[in-house]
Amino acid sequence: MRLTPKVDACTNFKLRSVALTSSKVEANPALWREVDNGNFQIVYASPEMLMDPTKHFQCNTVKEHNKFKTNLVLIAIDECHCLWCWERFRPEYRRLGDLRKIFIDIPFLCLSATIAPHVASYIHEVLSLRWLTVLFSLSIRRDDINIVVVPFGGPHDITPLRRLVTESIHDLLNMPKTLIFLDGVETAQKINLELQREVSGHLHGVPTDVFIRTYWATIDDDRKDETLKDLRSGRTRIVLCTDAFSLGVDIRDIDLVIQWDINEKLTIESLWQRIGRGSRAPDRMSNSIIYVNKRILESVPQDWEEGWKQTEPQLEPDDIDFDELCIIPVSKQRPLAKFGIPVTPETASKVNRHVRELYKEATSLKEALRNAKQESHGTQQDRMSMAQKIDPGVLWAVTNMGCLHKVFQILFREPDDKVFMDSHKGWCCGFCAKRRGLPADTIVAPGVTLGHSIHYLERDPSTNKIIIPPRPQDVTPPVPQPQREAVSAERKKDLQRTLEGWRNLKFKELCLPPNCVVSLVLPDKVLTRIVNNVRKIVIYSQLLATLREAHWDQGSSLLIEADVTGLFGAIENALGQSLLKEQANKGQRALC
Ligand SMILES: [Zn+2]
Repeated sequence: MRLTPKVDACTNFKLRSVALTSSKVEANPALWREVDNGNFQIVYASPEMLMDPTKHFQCNTVKEHNKFKTNLVLIAIDECHCLWCWERFRPEYRRLGDLRKIFIDIPFLCLSATIAPHVASYIHEVLSLRWLTVLFSLSIRRDDINIVVVPFGGPHDITPLRRLVTESIHDLLNMPKTLIFLDGVETAQKINLELQREVSGHLHGVPTDVFIRTYWATIDDDRKDETLKDLRSGRTRIVLCTDAFSLGVDIRDIDLVIQWDINEKLTIESLWQRIGRGSRAPDRMSNSIIYVNKRILESVPQDWEEGWKQTEPQLEPDDIDFDELCIIPVSKQRPLAKFGIPVTPETASKVNRHVRELYKEATSLKEALRNAKQESHGTQQDRMSMAQKIDPGVLWAVTNMGCLHKVFQILFREPDDKVFMDSHKGWCCGFCAKRRGLPADTIVAPGVTLGHSIHYLERDPSTNKIIIPPRPQDVTPPVPQPQREAVSAERKKDLQRTLEGWRNLKFKELCLPPNCVVSLVLPDKVLTRIVNNVRKIVIYSQLLATLREAHWDQGSSLLIEADVTGLFGAIENALGQSLLKEQANKGQRALC
């Protein structure tokens, strides 16, 4: 979360505040003393700054008698759902509960726009909020955001993102301001370069790397600030980003938010935070598209009533019992057939039961992470599908057979039974749009209509397969195909080395930005596939077929056709050399 804008906001209210970031403390080590002396009314700090036993706060501030401690009246944990979501890679979050032991009489205030029941349970436990805890629930309702779920073949095929710019090519500087959320920096870099190539020459003087920008945690603060400035002014129209953008960043006129692929890294809290970046000004509407691998959508049967037939009616109270640490997502025993259940007044009791059954009890807080890993870990014999591994709330949101907004509202406990209040200002979601009779050609984003959404697409009733209108197919190589004689393991190793060398050379030639990785030229798995299938790569078209099988598309890569021809030449050359070497070795052995 960016702390500087928060300090600016305090200054506007004439409050003395400071953000204790590592760069500020390094630049001015005396800052800590100012904090200890009570010079600031509000102090912002990360868990790492407060909980690291080697840093000033733990070594000095909490141990000494000082004005900071005397003046302290409240400890607030903003975006407190991060205690759970970021626990895996920022373990200091889990240690925030220790502050309770140090500041016994100081009240804790935990704030978040997205606290699902299992996260509330976790926060309660981590922060030892056993007594005198008051929970204020405010509405998370966003009647200004329309959402659709669009099935796709996987994140490797970026055609929908290319269409976003090609459909706007004559007026790119007025295309919808778009955030594209992804969970991998490498994918983001590749998409960035590809989209920049598409828009080049059509921007009337705006540099391509200003028109499309990237935003994630490791990008330095100055560049982040530039991105926000250019996005506000409208020179930047697309930002490829991670969760770093979804917390504490407030741009008021985002028209489109895209979630590009869902996988096990995405939590329901993150998904709602990301979608919530859209239309943050009164009287604005925005659209949100969640791209989901069609295999995940097909793994949940449409006939959800069948899945619930054997279930007894809900008898337990609806309230969450905080003594149960129900935080482990149920994965292995996940009843996929139940996930299609829509949120309606008629399904209310089943929905309550469903919410409680999405997560199971952890034996202890300490074991929670291990329990969660075990639960979602398959074996060679018993592989787990993505539909079993992803956050159960996310799965329910994208596969339910009703209104998408209502699933989020149930999970984030919309207060006062307002879930069924119909107050949306737009068409709400793909399901509601279809129910209201909106035509399939209603535009959601450049190149995307309601007709592309899961609620408009037909399915094969016998297989549950989604029928996507076909695109022109690539030409398949002719049969029969020539094949090499067996290629020894030694020759394959030589080939691997040669291809890695060829890739390094291309990487240098491309002069990419310094934070790019060599696999952007050709991913490791594609390289390995070539080596493993080299017996079947005798003619050029067979190399193209192998690349297609590896889901690698030259059109959306950094390489031009001549490079692929060069790659074929490198393979031929390496195999020829290694064969000669092998034959020479055999000859020598025969002479011995
Ligand atoms: Zn809806």
